[in-house]
Amino acid sequence: LERSRKTLAGGVSSNVRAGDKPFPLFFDHGAGSRLWDIDGNEYIDYVLGRGPLFLGHTYQAVIDATCKQLQRGQIYAAQHELEYELSERVSRIIPCAELVRFGISGSEAVHGALRLARAATGRQTIIKFEGQYHGWLDNILYSLAPDPGVAGDALSPATLAESNGQFSGADSHLIVLPWNNLAVLEEYLSRHGNTIAAIITEPVMCNTAVIAPQPGFLEALRTLCNGYGIVLIFDEVITGFRLSLAGAQGRFNIVPDLTIFGKAIANGMPISCLAGKEKYMGLIAAGKVGHGGTYNSIPPACAGAIANLDALEANNGEVYRTVEHTGTQLMNGIRAIGARLEVPIVVQGYGAIFYVGFPLSGEQTVYDYRSSLTMNNELYTAFVSAMVDRGVRIIPRGNWFLSAAHTEADVESSLAAVEAALTEAVVPALPST
Ligand code: PMP
Repeated sequence: LERSRKTLAGGVSSNVRAGDKPFPLFFDHGAGSRLWDIDGNEYIDYVLGRGPLFLGHTYQAVIDATCKQLQRGQIYAAQHELEYELSERVSRIIPCAELVRFGISGSEAVHGALRLARAATGRQTIIKFEGQYHGWLDNILYSLAPDPGVAGDALSPATLAESNGQFSGADSHLIVLPWNNLAVLEEYLSRHGNTIAAIITEPVMCNTAVIAPQPGFLEALRTLCNGYGIVLIFDEVITGFRLSLAGAQGRFNIVPDLTIFGKAIANGMPISCLAGKEKYMGLIAAGKVGHGGTYNSIPPACAGAIANLDALEANNGEVYRTVEHTGTQLMNGIRAIGARLEVPIVVQGYGAIFYVGFPLSGEQTVYDYRSSLTMNNELYTAFVSAMVDRGVRIIPRGNWFLSAAHTEADVESSLAAVEAALTEAVVPALPST
């Protein structure tokens, strides 16, 4: 770690322990639901690269397809059939995808979507929702969650409140409104609706507490955007190919104008997808909006994505039933242990991605960013550390990612770790009643 800090800004990334106490984990390799550190310790992994590894580590068909393409030779910035084949696959799967483009990261695909929306409407202002993350580019960045030291943390909710909901940090054309709050949105649009280019949203708020849209919220977004001529963008970088094959738009049956899929598209190979209606994506085809990138549609990633989609679509989407089943067992098990040990605990979300946290008060659901601030992050950090010590790797901010490689035996071992970690690290720290 010391050595890495001499050449790497901040040192080697640590995704597990908050800070470096007592030291970050260095990993050696992964397989299926497991990771091994350089000391040979084994972990059940619920981080999964923060989402991409929906089929688990080292999924063989994706590796084979990627390697085969590497051996055939790289073809950058030129026509190749894999890009075309992948575009056909993706446009068949994603409901709004009349046309698609591929890039490397979610952040740049978000950038592309905003650019299209502005070009199509001739308007500049974008609305996003508090606590949602759409990549690390300045014009859309806003505080992730209240973890100290996380990028964007300086853009605090207090700043938002003082500016009456208007975020004037990196981009004065960004308006940040509360999630799941139709009244505030309707009121804002009644005054400014005709100046808004796009509303961008994670259809399920995965970057804060895996918060589901309240019934009717996504439908209302669709209706309001139609009414005001606003482009509706679903950022499905996490939910895409995870909540269902067709993402949240498939699961909830709401069709946005533009969408971004990333992470689980190629089980770990770097590729993202910007997709949407011809009316908007056609601006790229007509040469009116640029879409660049040396590594866009890089062939090994396209090959990996196609192999990945083969597996996701196999047996009528069996992997989704598997993940939903295993994840639900895990969620229910955590709730049951919490109840038995009398630990107030919030467990919410879906089998494929869910959130676990300890409320500061008795509150039992987290329904927007502000209510997520009532969670006891310090206690969760202690819990994360205790889990890592027991061979289960989880993200410090509370999201658990499942893969098709996780088995019922993994769930059982993980629940044993949860019970021990709660008993030893959480119960003694709870305020006595
Ligand atoms: N949008 C969402 C919803 C995300 O969760 C992320 C990454 N966590 C991004 C965009 C940015 O994607 P990337 O890290 O690939 O740039």
